[in-house]
Amino acid sequence: MTRGRDAFRRDAVGSFEAVRAIRPPAQVRALGRAVEQWGTATGADSRRAALPWRSTRDPWAVLVSEVMAQQTQLARVVPAYLRFLEMFPTPAACAGAPLGDVLRAWEGMGYNRRARNLHRAADALVAEHGGAVPADLGALLTLPGVGPYTARAVLAFAFGHDMGVVDTNAGRVLSRAVAGRPLRPAEAQALVDAMVPAGGGWQFGQALLDLGAMVCVAARPRCGDCPIRPRCRWASAGRGGPDPARGSAAVSTAQTVFAGSDRQGRGRLVDALRRAPVTPDRVSAAMGWEDEPGRAARVVESLIGDGLVARDDCGVLRLP
Ligand code: SF4
Repeated sequence: MTRGRDAFRRDAVGSFEAVRAIRPPAQVRALGRAVEQWGTATGADSRRAALPWRSTRDPWAVLVSEVMAQQTQLARVVPAYLRFLEMFPTPAACAGAPLGDVLRAWEGMGYNRRARNLHRAADALVAEHGGAVPADLGALLTLPGVGPYTARAVLAFAFGHDMGVVDTNAGRVLSRAVAGRPLRPAEAQALVDAMVPAGGGWQFGQALLDLGAMVCVAARPRCGDCPIRPRCRWASAGRGGPDPARGSAAVSTAQTVFAGSDRQGRGRLVDALRRAPVTPDRVSAAMGWEDEPGRAARVVESLIGDGLVARDDCGVLRLP
């Protein structure tokens, strides 16, 4: 659905008011320029600069990288990203493959629903967008598994739009440095959009993510090395009081314990199915729950319901 021009004008005015209520817009823009210049001058960190998705503007590759980088460490993402794109270089190649092949390419990544969503997104791209990733926020947000961060990241990092992105790293910087307090999602988005220097969407976005990942880190921010230290509200206040990043928009909290969780059993079964079908008598063992057949049965049903596992008439499980 296309939104009217008046709606966009209202959003823009609302965003400006949201920014001004937090900090003078001129200061916010100056922070944005400082972050961009730091990224340009330092090239951030050679390991992050060498991440393979930073050297492409292919929207499909950028989309794949952003979906993969959610919830998975970058060291594990890199080989999976290269393998995935070799197998599925286009949305059409992905959509044309069985989900089982996509799940095999996803090995080592965890959170297998993301692979299923990417497969469904590829289907939608072929069916509704001629096999291309659209350069449109509303259209991107209709794709399975694509939320506000991923959609904006595709626009900034593939299409070069001047659009801010807020992940957990950016969220820390915004709350600590720009606001000095926890932010609501709409406030964080308004602030980061106001920080993007004209024409600098790609460079600024990468620099902001790097700043949060390398300098303004969660446990012990390295304020002495920070390019925006003089403008940082939290540091200027002596970092007193609670960390503004705690509870702020997009800033992740500690993950639930993996060992012994249902998620671990789900992952083990999908891993086993990547190698071969699993007969009913081996299901509990494949999940590491030999003594908990009831739990295994319940989790198998949830995997089937999610479309990640198929069961034939003999009860044998396999990838779809
Ligand atoms: S000065 Fe410290 S708290 Fe402020 S943005 Fe930099 S690293 Fe983060």
